[in-house]
Amino acid sequence: MPNIVVQKFGGTSLSDTDRFKAVAKIIKDTSEKGKKVVAVVSAMAGETQRLIDLAKEVQEIPDPREYDALISSGEQVSVALLAMTLRNEKVNSKSYTAFQLGLRTDDYHGKARINSIDTKNILKDISADITPVITGFQGINEEGDITTLGRGGSDTSAVALAVALGAEECQIYTDVDGVYTTDPNVYEKAKKIDKLTFEEMLELSSLGAKVLQIRSVEFASKYNMPIRVKSSFTNNEGTLINGEENMEDALISGVTHTSDDAKLTIRKVPDIPGIAAKILDPISSQGIEVDIIIQNVSEDKTTDFTFTVKREKSQETKNILSNLSKEFGGGEIELNEDISKVSLVGVGMKSHAGVAATMFKTLADKNINIEMISTSEIKISVVVKEDLAHEAVKSLHDAFNLEK
Ligand code: ADP
Ligand code: ASP
Ligand code: MG
Repeated sequence: MPNIVVQKFGGTSLSDTDRFKAVAKIIKDTSEKGKKVVAVVSAMAGETQRLIDLAKEVQEIPDPREYDALISSGEQVSVALLAMTLRNEKVNSKSYTAFQLGLRTDDYHGKARINSIDTKNILKDISADITPVITGFQGINEEGDITTLGRGGSDTSAVALAVALGAEECQIYTDVDGVYTTDPNVYEKAKKIDKLTFEEMLELSSLGAKVLQIRSVEFASKYNMPIRVKSSFTNNEGTLINGEENMEDALISGVTHTSDDAKLTIRKVPDIPGIAAKILDPISSQGIEVDIIIQNVSEDKTTDFTFTVKREKSQETKNILSNLSKEFGGGEIELNEDISKVSLVGVGMKSHAGVAATMFKTLADKNINIEMISTSEIKISVVVKEDLAHEAVKSLHDAFNLEK
């Protein structure tokens, strides 16, 4: 329905009850301009992490069903508080959890995918001038169990709702006033980008720009839903992400880094055909995504096999590898969590040689050792020690003149 805007407010915008008032004011102002607002909210700042830490105190690898029941609870607090705050502001409002709404997902706990959203109640509210406030991050599976969409998943809830409602735009309110050439909290010279294509944003998100969860951008791209990233603290235009190609693609759109990767090495693997599949199959069948892979040249008919996974899956992966290694008489498993993947992203790279050479030289000049490399047409990633990641980001940002 035209005239509907989905506005999502992240935890960084909801740190205390004064911030709920500021958020309610944004919703009220938008409604007074004649828009029908549907709000999606995350848990208050720090709350999801607090719940995750609690779970891990109780179980090293938490039971998936109970884990989701626990970590989704922060969002339920937020919707109720926001609906109450809106009522104080004389905006008629009603809160919904995923269960109450009927936001259905598959049953992949901790990283569920949205299958369908029942919009009946929201549409009824909208026509009765009631502002619905919906929990981000959570869904329910076929059995009615609570699922969650992965860290940062409220962005995806918001975009999926915008698509289901045929909204004009999905607005993501956060603590920075748009998408920048690099994390503005890491480098003060980061520059705000006014417009990005879905393709560029997909790469930035997938490589560590956590301002938007990757799946939200995939959803938006698939259904051509414009996303606008804005600050809930200032009143700036923000960054618009849509399907419109820019006249000239930027050589580099940004530099990203991750802080949730881990590197695993399995030593003394027999160097025979099929060994890579033998190692990776049991890992992927547990739903663990493997990212950068390196297999070294063998010297004595055995080789080292190294790859990265998300840090939250590192212990589980290590356990799988230990069992495998025993099976084929391999060596030790090394787990290193003090790594970061630093990436240069740019659609314009396709037609420019020499980007990689400049990148490697810049890092070498700073004495930053590259542990792994992975490239595609529009990005180059390197794995470095985590405590050098910020320096790497800053030097690359300077080397490619991104502040201009
Ligand atoms: P929210 O609680 O609103 O969901 P997040 O912490 O998930 O907020 O995302 C906002 C944060 O994303 C910013 O505070 C910023 O540190 C980080 N960030 C990382 N890369 C970028 C980037 N390229 N542009 C803007 N913000 C970025
Ligand atoms: N509260 C969840 C998280 O911290 C979801 C979100 O913020 O988008 O990951
Ligand atoms: Mg977020």
